[in-house]
Amino acid sequence: TKQKKLAREEQERLQKSMVVKAFHAFYEAQYGERWSSLLWALHAKPRAACLSNKFADMAVFADSMESLTNLRRIQFVSVPLYDCDNRFPHPERDDKNVYTCYLLDAASVLATEALDLSPEDRVLDLCAAPGGKSVSILQHLQFPMGSLTANELSADRRRRLWKVVMDYLPEDLKQYVSVTGRDGAQWSQPDLFDKVLVDAPCSAERHLLQNDEELCKWSERRSVQCAKRQIALLNAALKNVSVGGLVVYSTCSISNLENDKVIEKALQKRKVGVEIVHRTWLIGEKTEYGWIVLPDTSSGWGPLYFCVLRRVS
Ligand code: SAM
Repeated sequence: TKQKKLAREEQERLQKSMVVKAFHAFYEAQYGERWSSLLWALHAKPRAACLSNKFADMAVFADSMESLTNLRRIQFVSVPLYDCDNRFPHPERDDKNVYTCYLLDAASVLATEALDLSPEDRVLDLCAAPGGKSVSILQHLQFPMGSLTANELSADRRRRLWKVVMDYLPEDLKQYVSVTGRDGAQWSQPDLFDKVLVDAPCSAERHLLQNDEELCKWSERRSVQCAKRQIALLNAALKNVSVGGLVVYSTCSISNLENDKVIEKALQKRKVGVEIVHRTWLIGEKTEYGWIVLPDTSSGWGPLYFCVLRRVS
């Protein structure tokens, strides 16, 4: 049995080295010489910024941040998002039991800024769990004019999402947010939403690189499968947003197949009039159709790709 165990381990090692080789070849083909520095940045522990929650007592938030060194506001977004030189403490609740802040990648907040939110917007977050971007969206809304529908297909993840969203709102405002559990690709409620965020499930390479077991599951075929699902989700969003409204498609993938190529293919298949909205941001770089924040050139934030589309007819 010891021999069997050794043989099995050798088999696993070989399998892993083949996957890793294919992984590097795939991304080197896309990024060329940049791949080695990007890979190095992707291996680093993800960074967390701290988004203060406007629905909580800001005095409690200020108290909990007091001991942090060099706490500073991040300038590339409009909402109060902070960076510091040490680790942020666990978020705290105020007297009404509302959490005072949420920790997330600053690039995620940038993707929600791309929705160009107004206080009265009716927003659909189509793939919402665990809820970081939903919490960011809420910071722009004013109730009862505005509303948020946070949708998540997976029941387990939806439970977590529900808890997050409710933990960030006081009792009297919870009624303006609904959490739903539908397949986003089958969504059919035209004209109900001014803005739709499609933060699609993706290859999440930075996450894979933190976990050997996950990395072993990577394949180009999986990225192609992901892209198919992403195209269906994006087209459902475009079909349902009201005319004049915006859809932001985002992923944390570095694969062009799951980013610009998804936009290209969705536009070929679309049934409604759509134009791409081009805008530049203070961090990240332009891609063919959208924008990408990569950690090698954006102080460790990202990866985060997004593209803004406006429905015109
Ligand atoms: N927006 C989230 C945030 O900022 O916390 C992260 C979303 S994560 C990238 C993608 C989510 O989409 C996953 O929770 C996944 O379970 C969910 N999902 C996958 N397929 C879906 C579908 N067809 N409809 C709705 N949600 C889906």
